[in-house]
Amino acid sequence: MTGTGYDTDLLVVGGGPAGLATAVHAARAGLDVVVCDPRRTPIDKACGEGLMPGGLARLHALGVDPPGVAFTGFAYLDGVGNRAETRFPHGPGRGVRRTALHAALATAATHAGAHWSSTKVHRVAQDADSVTAAGVRARWLVAADGLHSGVRRRLNVPTTSGTPRRFGLRRHWRIRAWSELVEVTWAAHAEAYVTPVDADLVGVALLYRPQRGAASPATDAYTRLLSGFPALAARLASAEPVGPVRGAGPLRCLPRGRVHGRVLLVGDAAGYEDALTGEGISLALAQAQAAVAAILAREPAHYERAWRRITRQYRLLSRALVLATTPPIGRRLIVPLCATAPALFRHTVNALAH
Ligand SMILES: Cc1cc2nc3c(=O)[nH]c(=O)nc-3n(C[C@H](O)[C@H](O)[C@H](O)COP(=O)(O)OP(=O)(O)OC[C@H]3O[C@@H](n4cnc5c(N)ncnc54)[C@H](O)[C@@H]3O)c2cc1C
Repeated sequence: MTGTGYDTDLLVVGGGPAGLATAVHAARAGLDVVVCDPRRTPIDKACGEGLMPGGLARLHALGVDPPGVAFTGFAYLDGVGNRAETRFPHGPGRGVRRTALHAALATAATHAGAHWSSTKVHRVAQDADSVTAAGVRARWLVAADGLHSGVRRRLNVPTTSGTPRRFGLRRHWRIRAWSELVEVTWAAHAEAYVTPVDADLVGVALLYRPQRGAASPATDAYTRLLSGFPALAARLASAEPVGPVRGAGPLRCLPRGRVHGRVLLVGDAAGYEDALTGEGISLALAQAQAAVAAILAREPAHYERAWRRITRQYRLLSRALVLATTPPIGRRLIVPLCATAPALFRHTVNALAH
């Protein structure tokens, strides 16, 4: 569809799940697409790697079926013997290594006809008809460059972060999965999310609020935080750590608006609350589809409305959970509450499953 004076119809900045799903939808709809990401493939990232059933269904609808390990729901645990469990009503989610997800989505994008650039975007310029970045003049640009989007910053889009400032760290461990549920252990200092992702491989993600002045290398911080989960640390004591500790944060970052001229923000770049509900990838996939639909209709403002609808429940639930579990009393009560009110726990997890 590329016309006179344009290098491409759509330039996608960022080749994570949001950018790659955008590329697949757009290229299949007949747009000429360039994806640019300077990182070498397959791209890894700090992530709990749990794909909710709804996100898995969206991937399947794209014909993408990455390898992984099924999980059937969630268990919440604490250090004093409380445990609450609930299962998804309509089939499992899947723990998928980010590298496997990236490889599967990148293959689909290539097959759909997307082109690739390894340029890191430093500047973005736009006028009424076009947007230019990485030396490419495009009709539209989708910024899918993650939580602390550089494109967003270059466009001077104001963002809100607020408190609490939470961070995430993730490492893999060579050990046979001991549960078909994603296990979340709540402690005073952090939560630990255990997700099976491959045969004999589990990912353990830790979400936490750093202590003031406690900046330390990721591996040291991870080791210190993990030692505050004695049962989990004992299980992992004889397991081999696999790969580096990866980190991300601060997690909360909400921009004012997702459509800025010919630039649409998609995925974490569009706004992120927290990782504790494990929905980021599922939401990114839904946003990618909505952004491409708006571009095809030449009605970018439709995307802003779609984004609000897609993320409303996530924004409310994540924020409510983060705020409720910030004071020590909230952290102590969350697991006993879920255990004594199983219908509430089930209802909440079912809401996340979509
Ligand atoms: C600790 C933690 C645990 C999580 N657990 C889960 C979970 O269990 N399930 C779930 O669904 N979600 C989870 N999430 C959220 C999930 O990781 C994100 O929502 C998801 O990665 C968003 O995808 P994205 O494509 O928007 O961004 P990203 O995956 O961050 O991809 C952004 C891409 O943009 C590229 N880029 C950046 N700058 C530039 C530039 N200037 N030029 C070109 N390219 C650029 C980067 O190289 C990167 O490849 C978790 C997040 C964290 C931090």
